Amino acid sequence: MKLKDKVALITGGARGIGKSIALMFAKEGADIVIGDVNLEEAEKTCKEIEALGRKTLALQLDVTDLAKVEEVVNKILDKFTKVDILVNNAGITKDNLLLRMNPDQWDAVLNVNLKGAFNCIKAVTKPMMKQRSGKIINIASIIGIIGNPGQANYAAAKAGMIALTKTVAKEFASRNITANAVAPGFIQTEMTAKLPEDVKNQMKAAIPLARFGGPDDVANTCLFLASEDSSYITGQTIVVDGGMVMA
Ligand code: NDP
Repeated sequence: MKLKDKVALITGGARGIGKSIALMFAKEGADIVIGDVNLEEAEKTCKEIEALGRKTLALQLDVTDLAKVEEVVNKILDKFTKVDILVNNAGITKDNLLLRMNPDQWDAVLNVNLKGAFNCIKAVTKPMMKQRSGKIINIASIIGIIGNPGQANYAAAKAGMIALTKTVAKEFASRNITANAVAPGFIQTEMTAKLPEDVKNQMKAAIPLARFGGPDDVANTCLFLASEDSSYITGQTIVVDGGMVMA
């Protein structure tokens, strides 16, 4: 087991990629805290994890609210006494071409996808500094590397997350806290299910491995970054996209 007795907070872990990460970490021995706006769904996921023999905590959390994030971290410390891993996975899209994008769409995506990660990092690094260890994993996107028409807000937030990752890696390296980002390509979840068929077909044609990714493809990379196997890696962005974007 690669994460035996570790405690992991996964934001937006009730469904999609976050849920796969939660289940995979639990199978590798971690106790799991899911912080999600959707408490009912988070509780269902936690029941599945408990069936694997791990402890869980499902908490209602809107990552845009720093006070709420701090409250959640205090609850984790009360129950588990520590927090070893943070996965900043909560994310939303509000797509529109820039000329039609209104400020509310811009703010909503920046708030959840970027400020939410800042809030969670701010709250967990305090106990991680005391522990002198920690693993922070930010779920970015290839869109934060290459941009995408209709996603100015999302691309800016995800690019910001990659830069945030590098800065956190530099600021906290001396405390043995690593920070890395994962940049998925097209992953089959409810977020991508709503895209029109012709857009999906166009995207598939641009993937050298000629298939969409599944949530477990992202979870496998997160497991590597959360485990001791990656102890000499920090500030990096690992692209998980079937070869769509090559540096
Ligand atoms: P989903 O929409 O399937 O799941 C996202 C989860 O985050 C949901 O449970 C959602 O709750 C929750 N959430 C939304 N807003 C907040 C908030 N403010 N605070 C806490 N939780 C919140 O998304 P995916 O699983 O597809 O995506 C997960 C991450 O991966 C995102 O950051 C996304 O940008 C990124 N990503 C996804 C790709 C893909 O192809 N799917 C590609 C590249 C990156 P609710 O159900 O109530 O909305």
